[in-house]
Amino acid sequence: MNAPLPAQVLKQHLIDPEICIRCNTCEETCPVDAITHDSNNYVVDPDICNGCMACVPPCPTGSIDNWRLMVRSEAYSVQEQFGWEELPKEKALPVVDDAAAPSSDEASDVLAQPAAQTTFTLPGASVPPWSAAHPYVNLYTHKAPMTATVVGNYRVTGADTESDIHHIVLDFGELPFPVLEGQSIGILPPGVDAQGRPHHARQYSLASPRDGERAGYNNLSLTVKRVTEDHGGVAAHGVCSNYLCDLAKNDTVQVIGPFGHTFLMPNHPRANLIMICTGTGSAPMRAMTERYRRRIDTGENGKLMLFFGARTERELPYFGPLMKLPRDFIDINLALSREPGQPKRYVQDLIRDRAGQVRELLADRNTCIYVCGLKGMEVGVLDALRDVTMQGGQDWSILHDMLRREGRLHFETY
Ligand code: FAD
Repeated sequence: MNAPLPAQVLKQHLIDPEICIRCNTCEETCPVDAITHDSNNYVVDPDICNGCMACVPPCPTGSIDNWRLMVRSEAYSVQEQFGWEELPKEKALPVVDDAAAPSSDEASDVLAQPAAQTTFTLPGASVPPWSAAHPYVNLYTHKAPMTATVVGNYRVTGADTESDIHHIVLDFGELPFPVLEGQSIGILPPGVDAQGRPHHARQYSLASPRDGERAGYNNLSLTVKRVTEDHGGVAAHGVCSNYLCDLAKNDTVQVIGPFGHTFLMPNHPRANLIMICTGTGSAPMRAMTERYRRRIDTGENGKLMLFFGARTERELPYFGPLMKLPRDFIDINLALSREPGQPKRYVQDLIRDRAGQVRELLADRNTCIYVCGLKGMEVGVLDALRDVTMQGGQDWSILHDMLRREGRLHFETY
């Protein structure tokens, strides 16, 4: 009377379209190109996915972490997934009679042995520092976004430079929007894309600490670069960045999030931070630095060391306020790549220049490292950290593993 158990059971990997913010992180991370997207959804191809989990930790929303036990021949196809507005309900697997049923061990073997599993190592940690505060995520979603009011919007790069970066302050009024430094929010730009679908959300890192852009206020700030050309230098009009940079005071914006559960700062006394950033990657560094600055007199702070890269001083967001911070509070290293009359310097050059101090901090288990900015900086920074470690006679692969395992090395690049 019972249907026989199909020969193959698949633990199918699915992405929740209601939570996914279409940030492309999963597609970029997948080592076997199993993730793809159309203008509606990001989806996983059941014929390619090998369950390696590489895409799961970097996903800012957790929408990636959905699984269904399926009869392999009935797995949801990529085309079906493109059409979804929400995940389908779980289906019960066909029931089998006891004799035909595999033992639970056999069943888990089926699930645990995807074809040709690839091992994939993330450059950074997939866990937060042990002492990080607990983050709230996905409180507001596409279906139920929160409306915030713009209470400030001004340029933080020199008016005569090509780099138009804005500091934007959003206020949440009476509604709760709890955040931590290192988290990001999603902005839903108004209007529709070329296919007539609502624009997808874009992510922006918080530039303010957990207690608000103004301490004690229910607001936060963002650092947004106006996109006027694509990554290849071809003229392009960035939908969301232009929308944000053009907002006026008292305009309202649709916000979702917060997102991010690993790129978080340690919460225990005397934790040291090494912060390495370029351009708008300075946003989370500003948030963390400001958290430390507000408790400067408490004696709780560890050391802060900043490596900050830009083409020129005038293209460095927040240059003025940054340079006013006391030197015994933060060790600032500016790497300028196009400052007239000066040799080109990149953040990795300065990490090597300051090898002694970097090694000293790396040797302290209270030190966490944060890297944020252009995607291309990851390799250069890792190489520089490897070089300074090896110069000190230490094995970088052992230290690198430890930093990842202990949630002490974090990357957020885009
Ligand atoms: P789109 O309309 O999406 O793209 C227009 C064109 O520009 C496309 O060809 C696209 O490939 C290209 N493009 C997209 N982004 C860039 C870019 N950054 N530089 C050059 N070309 C680009 N951005 C910030 O300004 N500040 C932040 O703090 C910030 N934090 C982020 C945090 C995370 C975790 C992630 C994933 C992204 C973050 N971004 C940040 C990038 C942001 O989400 C948008 O991708 C960016 O603002 C461009 O969106 P857009 O709608 O203006 O451009």
